[in-house]
Amino acid sequence: MKEKLEKWEPEVSLEPLKDRKSLHDFQEEAERALKKFPGGTVAIFNMRQFKYINECYGRETGDRLLAGIISAMKQRKKDNELFYWIGGDIFYVFINRWERSYVRQRLESYILGGTKVSEKILKNSQVSFYCGAIVSYSGSKEENYSLEQMLTHVMYALAKAKEYPGNKIWFFDAELHKKELQENNVELQMQRALSMGEFELYLQPKVDPLTRCLKGAEALVRWRMPGGVFMSPGEFMPVFERTGFSSRLDQHMLQEVGRLLYNWRKQGLKPIPVSVNLSRRTLYEESYIRTLEWVKENYQIDDGEITLEILESMAFGNLIKANELLEKVKNMGYLISMDDFGSGYSSLNVLAKLKIDELKIDQAFLRGITADSREKLILETIVRLAKDLNIPTVVEGVETADHEELVRSLGCDCAQGFLYSKPMPAEDFTDQFMKKGGCQYKFQIL
Ligand code: C2E
Ligand code: MG
Ligand code: MG
Repeated sequence: MKEKLEKWEPEVSLEPLKDRKSLHDFQEEAERALKKFPGGTVAIFNMRQFKYINECYGRETGDRLLAGIISAMKQRKKDNELFYWIGGDIFYVFINRWERSYVRQRLESYILGGTKVSEKILKNSQVSFYCGAIVSYSGSKEENYSLEQMLTHVMYALAKAKEYPGNKIWFFDAELHKKELQENNVELQMQRALSMGEFELYLQPKVDPLTRCLKGAEALVRWRMPGGVFMSPGEFMPVFERTGFSSRLDQHMLQEVGRLLYNWRKQGLKPIPVSVNLSRRTLYEESYIRTLEWVKENYQIDDGEITLEILESMAFGNLIKANELLEKVKNMGYLISMDDFGSGYSSLNVLAKLKIDELKIDQAFLRGITADSREKLILETIVRLAKDLNIPTVVEGVETADHEELVRSLGCDCAQGFLYSKPMPAEDFTDQFMKKGGCQYKFQIL
């Protein structure tokens, strides 16, 4: 077989171009085939650079290439397979098998046919193909599709394959598809949600572990969707990060916090410091900097009343620029806290060089702690280092009295966690803590 292929000369006649079929023809025949077998595979091939071939090589070469590919692929077709060229650079294949490894081999064979002939026609240049495929098997609970569903989902698989370079075959994966549908839904909803005020301000207390007095609060976003369903940031922030919407949301939360502090003051309540969270890119947005100025002025915020919780990753690869930005917002009267320290690729270098006013140690440390665990040793070391650098520390995730005792014994300045309170709506926080003493409020732990 191999030898036969090596010797095979590409078809240069344009005859194959007369054999164009419609998608409808394919659909009918695939439907008939699917009735005969308990399953099968539908695949679509697209050529990557087809648009440019006519321009770069001329139309005649483009036609010869297409004719050559059609005939090379057809030569590889087995008896129980269908191969349809439906125009342009689009080829449909049906295979009467559903085992992925077998199917993959078959699809690779079609691709090989196409690339080999392209090399001969284009004189040492090669085109590449991307291919979407979907398998269906009537004996499977998850992968039993009608032909119509296969023809829809295969387009999605094709789009996924296109995202990768070179010759790429992508099998439709129902799980991934569902996840992406949800993500797209989140994306479609976010603008509306912002304008409808669905992003709500929640607050969680920050507490002095020695006196158990309220020291401040962290602002956390909650998405109340239509119908009253709540979504936590862990579910939507990753999508927002990808779309860039997270900076817009951070801006909204900053404004909410500014308004809250203003309202406290108006009600005669002495504000406590409040932190807001920033996504990795937020501080690099000009519009966020402008909002910082606007909030400070419009809501008459005192210096040090709002802390910006940044992520260490905002400085990766650009420590100088990051420090310039921090310097700028600090001059405006904001404080800087580094959130989730120790959760990612924490670097002591970044800790030492970034100009921060507070270090928040990730809750993962407390989760992993036992009397002689490494987490405990690392936690002790980080707290000591922060003290040497003159940076106050906050430990996140304090859930038990034992956690609190540890945090206290290490000399941490502040604790945050469910032991004191879960995050709650800003109005509840105002009633429960601000109207009962604010900074004087003392937590009672039973
Ligand atoms: P974070 O800034 O580290 O916030 C602390 C998270 O830990 C919060 O989760 C809080 O509810 C949770 N937490 C607090 N105490 C405890 C405890 O004792 N035990 C446990 N198991 N969890 C505790 P949440 O509200 O789901 O937020 C998750 C993350 O989402 C936040 O982590 C923050 O990175 C991000 N986030 C929240 N709001 C915003 C926002 O407005 N903007 C941006 N960019 N990110 C936000
Ligand atoms: Mg935070
Ligand atoms: Mg954190």
